[in-house]
Amino acid sequence: MNYTSTRNSGLNVTSAHAITKGLSDEGGLYVPESVPAFSEKELLGMSDMSYADRAFEVFSRLLTDFTPEEIRHCVDSAYNDKNFDSDNIAEITRLTDGKFILELWHGPTCAFKDMALQILPYLLTTSAKKTVDGKHIAILVATSGDTGKAALEGFKDVDGTSIAVFYPEDGVSPMQKRQMTTQEGGNVFVSAVKGNFDDCQNGVKAIFTDKSIAEKLAENDILLSSANSINWGRLAPQIVYYISSYVELVKNKEIKFGDKINVVVPTGNFGNILAAYYAMLMGIPVNKLICASNSNNVLTDFINTGVYDRNREFHTTVSPSMDILISSNLERLLYHFTGCDDSLVRDWFGKLKEQGRYEVNDAVKTKLSELFYAGCCSDEETKAQIKATFSEHSYLLDTHTAVAVKVYEDYIKATGDKTPTVIASTANPYKFGRAVYEAVGGKAVCDDEFDLISHLEQETGTKMPAPLAATRNKQVRFTGSVEKQDMGETVLGFLGK
Ligand SMILES: *Cc1c(COP(=O)(O)O)cnc(C)c1O
Repeated sequence: MNYTSTRNSGLNVTSAHAITKGLSDEGGLYVPESVPAFSEKELLGMSDMSYADRAFEVFSRLLTDFTPEEIRHCVDSAYNDKNFDSDNIAEITRLTDGKFILELWHGPTCAFKDMALQILPYLLTTSAKKTVDGKHIAILVATSGDTGKAALEGFKDVDGTSIAVFYPEDGVSPMQKRQMTTQEGGNVFVSAVKGNFDDCQNGVKAIFTDKSIAEKLAENDILLSSANSINWGRLAPQIVYYISSYVELVKNKEIKFGDKINVVVPTGNFGNILAAYYAMLMGIPVNKLICASNSNNVLTDFINTGVYDRNREFHTTVSPSMDILISSNLERLLYHFTGCDDSLVRDWFGKLKEQGRYEVNDAVKTKLSELFYAGCCSDEETKAQIKATFSEHSYLLDTHTAVAVKVYEDYIKATGDKTPTVIASTANPYKFGRAVYEAVGGKAVCDDEFDLISHLEQETGTKMPAPLAATRNKQVRFTGSVEKQDMGETVLGFLGK
C-alpha cells in the first residue's frame, strides 16, 4: 500500500519515503492511496491483545514496506510500561452509561502527544534507513508547549538522532518550561527565543531553507527533519487508540460488536480527530465525529457552513494547545471527501494562503454535515464544565478535555442522541494546574507552581502524576535564550558543526 499527495494525486511513494520527508515537494500532505479495512473477525481477534500488539496489527496494514521485525521493534520500544504509567497505555474511564473518557495522557509528558511521539523516533529512524541510509537525523521543533516536551522525551538518547527545541521566552506555562529545561538525554538541546511562537516557527522554517546551513549539514551526513503533526508518522499512531478503544469497549461488554459510537475530540490542528476518521475507514463503526473548539472556533464555523475563514481575532485561552487558526490536517479530510481531487484541494488551499478564506462545494458540505458535529465554548464555560464534572463524578478534567465534554453536553441537548460516546482526553489536569484550580473554586494565591499544585491536590483529593512531580527536584540544564536571528548558528553549534 503506497502513499500519494493531497496536491498531486499522481505521486506514489512508500510509507518510509512519506515519513522521512514529512511534507511533499509541492506542499501537499501524504495520504494513503486507499485505506485498508479490518474484517469483523480480525477486529474481534484483537480482544486479548496488548496495546502494542494491536498497534502491530494496525501498522502492518499501513506501513507495508516495513518488515514485521521492524514494526515489532517500533511498537515494543514505544508502548511499554517504562514509558507509560498504565499497562493499557490508553485508559478508558466510564463516567456514566455510554459516556467514556479515553485517557491519552499516561505517557512521560502527560499529554496525548506522547501517543505518537513515543513511537515516531523509531518509525523515522527505520524509514530513514530504507531511504537515506547512514545519515544522522537532526530534529528541529518550534513549540508552544506540549509538542516540544513530548518530542524531547521521544527522541532522547535514540541512536542516530539529535533534537533541538525552541520555545517562546514568555509563551509557555511554568510547568511546560520546567518540563523542557530539565530535560535529560545526551542528544537534546532546548532554548528559549526572545520572541513569540511565530518567531520560533519562522526561525525553524528559515533554518530548513538556508542554503549554507544545508551544505554544512550535507557535508556531515546530517539530515534535518521535523516532528510536527502533519507527518504521517504522527498520524498513523493515533489511529491505533481509536481502534483499540472500540475493541476494548466490546471486550468489556460496554457495547456490542457492530454498535456505532460517537467520538468527541478537542481539536486544534485536526490531527487527532482525523485519526478517528481513518479508524472509521479501517472498520470502526462511527455515528458522529464531534469536533470541539475553544473560542478560536474557525473549525466550528467551517463544519457548520462550509466556509473556512481565518480572518478573525486570535484568542489566548485556558486551552492553549487548541489556540490555532490554521488546522493543517483538514487538508487530508478534504482530499478524501472530494474523491481524491487534487486540483480542488490546490485551489482551496491556494485561496487560504492568499485570502485566508475558501468555501468548499456542496458535495463536501453534505459529507461534513452527515459525519461531523461541531461546537465551541468560552473559557468561562470550560471552567464551569470542570467544576460540574468534578462535583458530579469526582473526575477532574483538564481544560482541553473540558471543552470536549461541554460541546458533547450541548450536542446531547440539541439532538437527544443516545449513541455510546468516547471523549478523547488529551492532557492530565495537572499540566494546566492554575486554570483547573481556579475552576474548582480554589482560593489560595500563590505564584509558585508547585505550591499551587499542592493546593489543587488538597482541594480535589487527586494527585499530580509522577513525571510532573519529578521535575521539581530535577536540575535545570537549559537556561539559554537566543535572538531569533541567531537560531541557525545555535543549531550548528549544538550539532558541533
Ligand atoms: C495538541 C493538543 C490538542 C489538539 O490536537 P490536534 O491533533 O492538533 O487537533 C488538544 N489538546 C491537547 C492537550 C494538545 O496537546
